[in-house]
Amino acid sequence: MKDITLGIIGSGQLGSMLCQAAKKLNVKTVIISDDAQGPAQNYCDQFIFSKYDDQVKIKEFIKEVDIVTFEFENIPLEILRNINKEKKVLPKPEINKIIQNRKLEKSFVNDLGIKTTEWAFIKSAKDVSRNEKLLPGILKTNTLGYDGHGQFVLNSLNDVKKDWCFTADYILEKKVDLKKEISVILTRFQNGTISIYAPIENVHENQILKHSKIPAELSDKITDEALQNAKKIANQLDYVGTMAVEYFIDKNNVLLVNEIAPRVHNSGHLTINAFNVSQFEGHVRAVCNLEIIAPGKISNSAVMINILGKEIEEYRKKTFSRNEFFFDYGKKAIKNKRKMGHLTILKE
Ligand code: ADP
Ligand code: MG
Repeated sequence: MKDITLGIIGSGQLGSMLCQAAKKLNVKTVIISDDAQGPAQNYCDQFIFSKYDDQVKIKEFIKEVDIVTFEFENIPLEILRNINKEKKVLPKPEINKIIQNRKLEKSFVNDLGIKTTEWAFIKSAKDVSRNEKLLPGILKTNTLGYDGHGQFVLNSLNDVKKDWCFTADYILEKKVDLKKEISVILTRFQNGTISIYAPIENVHENQILKHSKIPAELSDKITDEALQNAKKIANQLDYVGTMAVEYFIDKNNVLLVNEIAPRVHNSGHLTINAFNVSQFEGHVRAVCNLEIIAPGKISNSAVMINILGKEIEEYRKKTFSRNEFFFDYGKKAIKNKRKMGHLTILKE
């Protein structure tokens, strides 16, 4: 069989981990990225530094690869559609159209009969007043948010400053009284087979994931509902690859979808060490149409800690035991709250 070359858009840590999984499967990787410093360039076979609208460079990228995927969802849709005319992009670009846009994403989930937080589409201060019942709430930019960027807590109408210019579209979400947060990660293959990991329990600080653990402490009912909803979403999207569904569980034990990530997910990093097939390997297998291997646990209990900003300096000096796995993303600049690395600890 001819060797497969996988094109990846984006060069962050998710790209690095995808490249490492691809290497294990003898899949070549070509990355295109607009970040000259992107750490994944150290793991891919070929790196193309380019703006995403540079037609010449995009053509070069297309020529080199058999199939294309991405490590972040906020790529302009037109670019994905254009690439897809020449080489298949998986998951398919139309999925991004929905998931890049919180309004379309939540409507899509609600139309499947699955609960999300209560929300409203907001274009102006008046729209906020009309939706006062959603306060205290969180105003989120409708597109381009990540790691809490583009989010504003509104405790009352007074927080909507008179001079606040609504330059973008937003959604306003009621603030959920959280009992806990979980995520479900699955890989869906081209024949419709789904491999799914048990729910992962997540703790966020300042809207950024701080740690993840398995097993999540949940009732069987919630576990089942979370798994079923994630499968329903993946099937309805005709999704190919690894994706995550982030959920809230409120104080009344109601399960709500927070958001969908059409890519490998930070909370799934522990699958590298705690399972025989990681979320990254699953993704490469699915998009390249390789053999399906169901994930099996290596450890029943694991924790993943995100290392943010300056914390990395301490970790770089530490020594680790056999059940601890430290990942330094090798980012050149240390920035406050930036994801610099992670540590996974296997407990059993
Ligand atoms: P991002 O796209 O930045 O990941 P999210 O919408 O997932 O944005 O929000 C990040 C985190 O902020 C969530 O995981 C949660 O901890 C907190 N958060 C967001 N929306 C709400 C909400 N409506 N109620 C309570 N907490 C929230
Ligand atoms: Mg999120």
